[in-house]
Amino acid sequence: MKQILVLASTNKGKTREIQDLLKGFPLDIKNLNDFGPIPEVIEDGETFDDNAYKKASFTARMLGYPAMADDSGLCVEALDGAPGVFSARYAGKNASDADNVARLLANLEPFENRKASFACVISIAVPTGAALTYEGSCQGIITRKPAGENGFGYDPLFYFPAYDKTFAQLSMEEKARVSHRGKALKQVADEMDKILEWIDINMPRFERVACKKG
Ligand code: IMP
Repeated sequence: MKQILVLASTNKGKTREIQDLLKGFPLDIKNLNDFGPIPEVIEDGETFDDNAYKKASFTARMLGYPAMADDSGLCVEALDGAPGVFSARYAGKNASDADNVARLLANLEPFENRKASFACVISIAVPTGAALTYEGSCQGIITRKPAGENGFGYDPLFYFPAYDKTFAQLSMEEKARVSHRGKALKQVADEMDKILEWIDINMPRFERVACKKG
């Protein structure tokens, strides 16, 4: 029988990518669109770890199935790790990717040190709150102006020396091979047999209650 695993996301692209990566395993991968609405998790953790765990454990508890969530962002050395967990809203609450890119370029303008890394944490939780954590990261250099049309977020500014291109100049497959998210997901895929055993041991079991007939 297939094990249901819920992705704590409504993103169709992300779901398809993960379904594809894990297609050899006895898994039925669903996302939040497959269920009725549940309250939104406030991502106010201090680390990627906190936020990923919060999303995965809340979803698992709400829906009663094991759940997987990720949290990721960009950490710039000269800015003491900013934007970090604030990557999506660096230029304000409803900031677009272009707003965030412009803000980063402005804040980093005075600095010679342009070293940065992307980080991704994946949390897999069961309804009791127990969880597994996987991490991936990749190093790059923040350019002085955007280049490339692919990807999203800070990709046009993230120069990856080994390919002599920004992430926005890579195909999806090229990026997945070296990116923070690709690396964290690969670890999940490599360990999926063990993860399935762990889920089986840790899922709460409900005793059947036999009622005496009157
Ligand atoms: P999330 O955790 O996937 O929602 O990502 C949070 C934010 O980090 C995104 O809105 C982007 O600004 C940034 N980010 C995370 N991963 C990437 C990436 O692969 N490329 C560019 N930006 C990213």
